[in-house]
Amino acid sequence: VVIAPAKHACNNVEDVWQVLHDVKDPEIPVLSVVNLGIVRAVELKGDDLEVVITPTYSGCPAMNMIEADVRETLKRCGFPDAKVTTVLSPAWTTDWITEEGRDKLRAYGIAPPEQASGSKLALFGVQPDIACPRCSSTATEMVSEFGSTACKALYRCNSCLEPFDYFKCI
Ligand SMILES: [Zn+2]
Repeated sequence: VVIAPAKHACNNVEDVWQVLHDVKDPEIPVLSVVNLGIVRAVELKGDDLEVVITPTYSGCPAMNMIEADVRETLKRCGFPDAKVTTVLSPAWTTDWITEEGRDKLRAYGIAPPEQASGSKLALFGVQPDIACPRCSSTATEMVSEFGSTACKALYRCNSCLEPFDYFKCI
């Protein structure tokens, strides 16, 4: 009996999910595409791998980079012909960021999105209380609607006086 050597570095769907953690958001390098909830599905049938991704909002020009990174990563783990399918509906929202992703954002000094998109608060233009990622105080105020990128707003904490980015909800 000849046992064929493993063809892929990834042998199952779980391996592929794991390796996709190597693909980081170019703007927030602590977050992987899995943390962001961009990867919707991984399907492996024999040697045919398909990864389904839903881009984040169009305001983030990083998405083309992310798709290229996903392809490159799949190639590295042995799937040069992997199919990367982009699905636009349902649209990505910040609700899809995983708990692990939210913890990583806080550790990175960015307040994670607090409120579901389309909620009543947002509808009436009420700003939710944003907790400071450093001291957890909610005595914070928005300094600018645009932080370091269009996807973030700049806030300042009135307790520890530190400025911080808030990941805007969509
Ligand atoms: Zn603070």
